This record gives sequence, C-alpha cells and structure tokens, in this order.
Amino acid sequence: MDLGIKGKRAVVCASSKGLGRGCAEALAEAGVDLVLNARGAETLEATAKHIADTYGVKVTTVAADITTEAGRAEVLKAAGAVDILVNNAGGPPPGHWSDWDREDFIKALDANMLAPIAMMQALMPGMIERGWGRIVNITSQSVRAPIAQLGLSNSARAGLTGFVAGTSRQVAPKGVLINNLLPGMHDTDRMVALDKAASESSGISVEEASKQRRGNIPVGHYGDPGDFGAMCAFLCSEKARFIVGQNIMLDGGQNNITI
Ligand code: NAP
Repeated sequence: MDLGIKGKRAVVCASSKGLGRGCAEALAEAGVDLVLNARGAETLEATAKHIADTYGVKVTTVAADITTEAGRAEVLKAAGAVDILVNNAGGPPPGHWSDWDREDFIKALDANMLAPIAMMQALMPGMIERGWGRIVNITSQSVRAPIAQLGLSNSARAGLTGFVAGTSRQVAPKGVLINNLLPGMHDTDRMVALDKAASESSGISVEEASKQRRGNIPVGHYGDPGDFGAMCAFLCSEKARFIVGQNIMLDGGQNNITI
C-alpha cells in the first residue's frame, strides 16, 4: 500500500530503541525523512545510520532529553518545518500510591503529559499554516485499563489523553490529525527488565517468568515494535484522513474491553 507520505518530514521523539524506533523505521520505509532523538548519542547514531542506509531517507539526530525545555528547544531547532510528530519518552517508575509526593508527580507530568503537549503546541501552528499534519502520541494500555502500580503513569497519560481528545477536534478542520497509540506488552528493553523483575520476585527463571507473562496475552507472544511502527506509519498516512482523536490499543487481546 502506498501511504502517500514519501518526501514528508517527521520528528520522532525517544526513538533510538524500542517502540519509538519501530515508528521511525516504518516512517522511513514509507519514504519519510527523519529527525531522531534520544539522550544517549551512541545508540542514536547507530540507529540513524542503520535507517539511512536501509531506507535511503535523510536522518538528522539530536541527542537530548525531550522531557526538558532545553532538550525540546534543540530538537525543534533541528526539526524546522515538519509534517509529522511522534511523541514518546520513557515511562515513570512503578510504586504504591503512598510513595509519591508532589515532586514525583511533577516529574511524571513533565515527561509524559507536558512534554508531548509542548511539542504539539510548538509544531502545530506550522502544520496548520501548511494545511497538513499528523501527530501520534505513544501512551499506554494503562490509559484504558489502568495498572495498579503505575499510578504516576496512569495520572500523566490520562492528562495527555484528555488534552488530545479536545485538541484533535479543534485542529482536524485545519488538516492536522492527532491520535494516540496504546501499547500493550511489547518486546523491548523494558520488557526484558520486567521479565527479570518478575523472575526475581517469584523465584523462577527469567525464561519461565517471560513464558508466564506471555501466557496472559491471548495471541501468546509479546508485541513486535516493527508491527507497532506499521500502525504508527498508517496513522501518519494519507489513508488515515478519517481517524481523529482515537486511542488505539495494540495489546494482543490482553485487555477485554469492548468499547
Ligand atoms: P525502551 O525500549 O526503553 O526505549 C526507550 C527509548 O526512548 C530509547 O531510545 C531511549 O533512549 C529513549 N528515551 C527515554 N527517555 C528519553 C528522554 N527523556 N528523552 C529522549 N529520549 C528518551 O522503551 P519502550 O518499551 O519503547 O517504551 C516507550 C514508551 O512506551 C514508554 O513511555 C513506555 O512506558 C511506554 N510503554 C511501553 C510498553 C512496552 O511493552 N514496551 C507498554 C506500555 C507502555 P535513551 O535512554 O538513550 O534516552
């Protein structure tokens, strides 16, 4: 399928690994030039080289923390006029409701609510002026099925989801379409760490812990960041003209939610 976005330009935040990288690769495969971002320069440069060599698109890198104002300023300076924005960042740590004070909440809100909102506010005026834009926010399955120990994440992502619900309807008439992608359990470094934590807490091997965790997903395996990226590229395509303000869950059927 021709996604109709060859030659467009995208910023993909937090994209040297995992789901962000999956989105970057799928956009590159569709012929989109990229601005990639992560904090660690080494992996970022290796990812950028792989993508440029494989897909023949232009790739610019910005090693910066996207959750800080200074980091976003660097990314925005390198980005210039872009057609597509994919918002992403690391998720807040798990814990118990009584663990967190105001500063912990501010940090989570900064990273997973206010940073993506700031990126949208910075880039949407140009998209509106040019009459075309696509924005995808990587959030979490916890938006529709909150996870008890992820109170910081649940709170921040609920705030972003509310902002998108209203804003997507305000900018759609201008040709700018915003949607959220909600990952279930995907095969990234984060899953490796969570398998290890489950193995340690239950005294079983990492392989057994991983097998048990995969067993909770109806399709029987973790999600592939490449498949996740394909959905992201579709939402950024010409074909997604009628998809506005949606929260699309990619979870292998794990959450039994009908609406
Ligand atoms: P990952 O494999 O650990 O990759 C995270 C990527 O983001 C890396 O490239 C990392 O590079 C970059 N990054 C992290 N913090 C950053 C920051 N402050 N500024 C710039 N770049 C940053 O993580 P993932 O599994 O893809 O998860 C991505 C998001 O989806 C997270 O918010 C996570 O909570 C959410 N999520 C993931 C899953 C899942 O199953 N994987 C499920 C639900 C929700 P550097 O470390 O070098 O900065």
